[in-house]
Amino acid sequence: MFQQEEYDVIVVGAGHAGCEAAAAAANLGSKVLLVTMNMNTIAQMSCNPAMGGVAKGQIVREVDALGGQSGIITDKTMIQFRMLNRSKGPAMWSPRAQSDRMRFAEEWRTTLEQTLNVDFWQESVTGIVVENDTVVGVKTQLGIEFRGKSVVLTNGTFLNGLIHIGEKNFGGGRAAEKKSTGITEQLLELGFETGRMKTGTPPRVDGRSLDYSKMEEQGGDEVPSKFSYLDTPRLVKQRPCYITYTNAEVHEILKEGFEKSPMFQGRIKGLGPRYCPSVEDKINRFADKDRHQIFVEPEGSSTVEMYINGFSSSLPEDVQYRALRKIAGFENAKMFRPGYAIEYDFFPPTQLSLTLETKRVKNLYFAGQINGTTGYEEAACQGLMAGINAHNKVHGREPFILKRSEAYIGVLIDDLVNKGTDEPYRMFTSRAEHRILLRQDNADLRLTPLGHALGLASDERLFRVEQKQRETTEVVELLKNFAIEPSEINALLEELGSATLHERTRAINLLRRPNLELEHLTRTLPNLTLALAPYQPDSLEQAVIAIKYESYIEKENQQAARVAELENFVIQGRLDYQQMPALSHEAREKLLKVQPETIGQAARISGVSPADISVLMVYLGR
Ligand code: FAD
Repeated sequence: MFQQEEYDVIVVGAGHAGCEAAAAAANLGSKVLLVTMNMNTIAQMSCNPAMGGVAKGQIVREVDALGGQSGIITDKTMIQFRMLNRSKGPAMWSPRAQSDRMRFAEEWRTTLEQTLNVDFWQESVTGIVVENDTVVGVKTQLGIEFRGKSVVLTNGTFLNGLIHIGEKNFGGGRAAEKKSTGITEQLLELGFETGRMKTGTPPRVDGRSLDYSKMEEQGGDEVPSKFSYLDTPRLVKQRPCYITYTNAEVHEILKEGFEKSPMFQGRIKGLGPRYCPSVEDKINRFADKDRHQIFVEPEGSSTVEMYINGFSSSLPEDVQYRALRKIAGFENAKMFRPGYAIEYDFFPPTQLSLTLETKRVKNLYFAGQINGTTGYEEAACQGLMAGINAHNKVHGREPFILKRSEAYIGVLIDDLVNKGTDEPYRMFTSRAEHRILLRQDNADLRLTPLGHALGLASDERLFRVEQKQRETTEVVELLKNFAIEPSEINALLEELGSATLHERTRAINLLRRPNLELEHLTRTLPNLTLALAPYQPDSLEQAVIAIKYESYIEKENQQAARVAELENFVIQGRLDYQQMPALSHEAREKLLKVQPETIGQAARISGVSPADISVLMVYLGR
């Protein structure tokens, strides 16, 4: 036995999923081994140096609220912050940070090194050890066997990774890193299904060679916010990004490379993310568009390396280079690294239960890109959930599952497990039917009590949540009672083009008007400013959202409660679908495959109709 008798949780891979999994399990008290190919690339951002964005920002806030680390690390290492969609309703507000790629990775490594209970081993895992349908450890390239009560696989894009640049292709898990072999082959033998996906990345260039005067500058928010609900540092000095565009000349050069394109020539078999196309795909599919937007993003606070967002490509490197130089501001651009595409193995996630444990091998969990997702945030939240559930399982505790009405994380896992995915899955706000409830401003209220009950979110987090809840109630009450005379407010209302008052009203009534914000009232009413002075900005914001969106939130809560009733009908192990002739053929097949745990989950499986659900309810005696 090497180093340690037996670990509680062995995590394979230290990407975004693996880091969260290891930290969560260890912070809950498990003895954890983190095995990763290269300790210098822990939490490497393989593609864009940014965290958050639409729907993804909400996920990072949720990870933080539960007691995960990604939000804290992003706050400590970001170089620009923007709250996207501010002009829309609060359900759409999405925090996004430009990260310092090197510092992000360094901070994650430091965090893990300072986490009690995490051991490290740098090597490639070539297989798992299975006894009696249960995983009991992993094997490495050196032939070492580590024993563990559970294993979390988070291999990212590395499984049989194949990198393409023009007509050249070579094995690799990421630029300049080896691919991983052995695991897919063994899992296939064990009866798992596998598939192939692809993703791509743009070239990186030398920022000293660019002419920014020909581009539009895009700064961060004037008052930058942050991700963590804890007291993490606020960003002081921000670095700008820049916007420029492709043009007809760029497109012509790129087209010259089409005959050597691994994608157009059919050498790439895996399906890529539709919503994140390569530049050659864009000019091919949208031939009528004469330009495409390019974001030029710094890779860190002190590096000259720039990420060319929107120019992802697997065309030959010389074609990429020549085309780049025709973009305004790029006339003298020097390239650091070419863009490339990568194909890799994934495992259709319908083979998992909602805890992310595989149905075929007990105590084996999958998290991250291995499940067919794409994105650091999607990976991080799965890692967190797999780490929690692996810990809970080996300590005889209840599974931890989030509902679709509780978190984007719940939506993501429910979608993966019930619907599967043929193309890299990324989160969108449109995937969440209860998105009015799942906002970035209230992830702490929704999830910190759950994280605290698990033992992962600290007492301090819970204290802050309780304070925010208490203050929000008090502020709503205060605004309900705060009387305003027409003479105090009519000038402001006129200025805002809002109907003037003829009689005294309460602050809450004015706040219900769409174009009136709390800042408008406090600007004009010194007494109100004074009354609200003791409250924190987060509580004020929460109170205003509760007032402005009261009817929507109430309706959504009722809807969620109706759905929750279905979730309470537990069916796992109670029904024999083979003996139910009234079920449609497709429903029977899907139910046998997915083995849903509740009626609610069964109802969300594509191919299971309301009529099939009625049949199940009859068998359950309802
Ligand atoms: P990874 O971050 O890939 O981490 C996997 C880890 O596992 C690594 O540390 C690796 O060393 C380790 N590992 C693998 N196999 C073994 C083994 N056998 N033994 C030990 N250690 C092992 N996402 C987007 O959202 N948008 C994009 O545009 C985008 N483009 C991308 C382009 C490229 C070229 C790549 C490579 C990825 C891209 N991604 C993109 C995906 C994003 O990088 C991933 O979604 C995210 O990093 C997945 O996190 P993960 O933890 O699952 O895996």
